[in-house]
Amino acid sequence: MKQKYIGRFAPSPTGPLHMGSLVAAMASYLDAKAHEGLWLLRMEDLDFDRNVKGADQHIIQSLQRSGMLWDGDINWQSKRQHLYEAALQKLGDNLYPCACSRKEIADSRLRLGETASQIYPGTCRHGLAEGKAARAWRLRVPDQIYRFEDRLAGMQQQNLATEVGDFVLKRADGFWAYQLAVVVDDAAQGITHVVRGADLIDSTARQIYLQELLGLPTPAYLHVPVVTNADGEKLSKQTGALAFDQGDNDILHDALMPAASFLGLQLSTGIGSKEEFWGMATLAWKNKLDNTKK
Ligand code: GLU
Repeated sequence: MKQKYIGRFAPSPTGPLHMGSLVAAMASYLDAKAHEGLWLLRMEDLDFDRNVKGADQHIIQSLQRSGMLWDGDINWQSKRQHLYEAALQKLGDNLYPCACSRKEIADSRLRLGETASQIYPGTCRHGLAEGKAARAWRLRVPDQIYRFEDRLAGMQQQNLATEVGDFVLKRADGFWAYQLAVVVDDAAQGITHVVRGADLIDSTARQIYLQELLGLPTPAYLHVPVVTNADGEKLSKQTGALAFDQGDNDILHDALMPAASFLGLQLSTGIGSKEEFWGMATLAWKNKLDNTKK
């Protein structure tokens, strides 16, 4: 029997949805509808410092106003922390405590004659130096290339040791890292297809490695291009992106039509309602998928 399609949208409530997040939401929604699958909503609210009060409700209302309705209950990551703890326990010796601060990591790279880089130099890999206390928990990565086929961008590959380094699963501030939580929840919710922004394509090999260690299935991945502003920066709260839903604006023409056009969907300008929009956009997405299948 063919496995039922289950997709998801997983916003972080760090601000209202802007055109960039709408594009990611729309792509995952249309892909689920085109496959007659389920579309789940997960609130990735684990970064308690970056969560913005009320942003979760704003996101929910914006999705409702847009006509993107999810299946089942909303999954709140803040209520599922015991599951991330259980996964961490399962990883055993693949994990090690790390005492390094960001500054120490940057300094040690400079000492090695390298420019500051994100790759962890492995300082605590073989044990904590005397007198140092554990701050975070890191996962050892193998010097091995991970490959996956992105449904849009094609074959991708990344060597976790040389391009990423041992990465953090539990942060020094005690918060769960995105990489662990997303893998645990994609599996727990039975997600078969992940559709999200291309800014996360670089995280996918890490997630596949974690799935392998935890014995979890790997979903299919599709990363859509990210929306940038006039300066070429990804739209985000930091770059001053505005909410696409202003409460009283014409969402169909101000937001949905431009987002569909960004996704390369050619729709008639005569579309008069959101219902009509979603019907036409789903068909256009289906055609796009058929045309990209060789
Ligand atoms: N919560 C992440 C974000 O808002 C998305 C996670 C994902 O789709 O895997 O960027």
